[in-house]
Amino acid sequence: MQVPKALIESLANAPGFNKVTFENIHQSGEQVTSVRINSGKYRFVHKDTAADDSKNLFFESATPVPWCSTGYYLPERPSFTLDPLFHAGAYYVQEASSMFLEQIVKTVFPDYSVMPYRVLDLCAAPGGKSTQLSDLFTEGLVVANEVIKTRSGILAENAVKWGNDNLVVTSNDPKDFQRLQGYFDMVVVDAPCSGSGMFRKDAEAIKEWSLQNVAYCSKRQQRILEDIWPALKEDGILVYSTCSYSTAEDETITDWLGNNFPVENIAVPVRDGWGIVESISPEKKLTCYRFYPDKIKGEGFFVTCVRKKNSEAIAGPNVKKFSLLPNKSKGILNEFIAGSNELDFILKGEETIAVKKKWMEDMSLLFSGMYVKKMGVNIGKILRDELIPSHELALSMLMVSNFNYIELNTEQALQYLRRNNMYVQHPQKGWGVVIYNGYNLGWVKVLANRINNYYPQSFRILKQ
Ligand code: SAM
Repeated sequence: MQVPKALIESLANAPGFNKVTFENIHQSGEQVTSVRINSGKYRFVHKDTAADDSKNLFFESATPVPWCSTGYYLPERPSFTLDPLFHAGAYYVQEASSMFLEQIVKTVFPDYSVMPYRVLDLCAAPGGKSTQLSDLFTEGLVVANEVIKTRSGILAENAVKWGNDNLVVTSNDPKDFQRLQGYFDMVVVDAPCSGSGMFRKDAEAIKEWSLQNVAYCSKRQQRILEDIWPALKEDGILVYSTCSYSTAEDETITDWLGNNFPVENIAVPVRDGWGIVESISPEKKLTCYRFYPDKIKGEGFFVTCVRKKNSEAIAGPNVKKFSLLPNKSKGILNEFIAGSNELDFILKGEETIAVKKKWMEDMSLLFSGMYVKKMGVNIGKILRDELIPSHELALSMLMVSNFNYIELNTEQALQYLRRNNMYVQHPQKGWGVVIYNGYNLGWVKVLANRINNYYPQSFRILKQ
């Protein structure tokens, strides 16, 4: 793989850049595959059937990603499409460098797992960082936004698979968030960029790369940051990252932030052996982190984070009122849902959406003016006093533990995921959730002489 000459020349003064080893690693053809385990689901799975070690449950010779407690490198790339656990949301295939977000969260919010922080992942599709954030901020609310409508579908699909009820998916322009002034404790801007860090994974990115595009991306990154800045609260944290090596999109943007907004530097502890390059922005002396594939096991990545000092006043909310499920209908849900005392049930058309009571005001606020594609957990439709459960419910952590769970072997699971007819010995009649290796895959309805497969048409796997 030939890296563009103009890129190599432009990186001559980039912190930590080594032309020889950088070119060698691109020419070597080496590919790195990494996954991040869904730790919420791992704790939730049916332990009697699942393996008891999250690493061995999936991949035998996986090795840990040093900066992420749930990240693993795989010795080779398996067919994820043909692994039922991938469809169950048991893990996410994510580039290892970007998993460094965990270190940032743990540094800036030591109480991240117990406090109800509000976090925005502004440029979120397909959802690598959003799913990671929703895993870390278990008591928090994570808004995953993707401005490009066609890409917001895959983000919502990945959020459904991940199964956390604290993940909201929106599709708005960064500027739209200005109505949520001073609202978020943390905003992650994983900005659209010229993509040089992804050359090893995506040969197309090489064809599209040019110095003009770097300049264009740099301007767009400034615009995005300027638009989103008001939504961050005072003392809130802004994380800015790219998968570009170009200083014009990295340290220069960091300095631009420092020149235009009141920020305080944040340093994240990095161990010597990790190979991550610490760089200091030339003007404002803000700490940044660079990931080079010749120094770490992963792709090119850049990240910096700052604390916001001095904020504008918080805008008064213009709150939307929801219709709620009548109390008399709630009993129908008990068979399916655990912890319903902590939940409110919003009626949206024919669908019922479960939302934690503590987040209802936030949902109202988000709903008034933003395009919300997914929130809480869609439970399904109540028709004639019966719940027609949604796929989202089966994959969520709201499901009761004592349901009609039907264990499938690999062949049966693949038949189910292809939405084919399936045969299971002596199943119990009625609604059932099929499971594989302890993980929920989705609904079936067992009738007297057949099993109806309720796997969503749009998710079904086509590969044989
Ligand atoms: N954070 C994602 C993850 O970890 O899976 C990857 C995000 S990708 C680097 C950047 C995203 O920004 C893309 O999904 C792209 O559609 C979106 N984007 C493009 N133009 C944008 C803009 N003007 N404002 C905000 N986001 C934009």
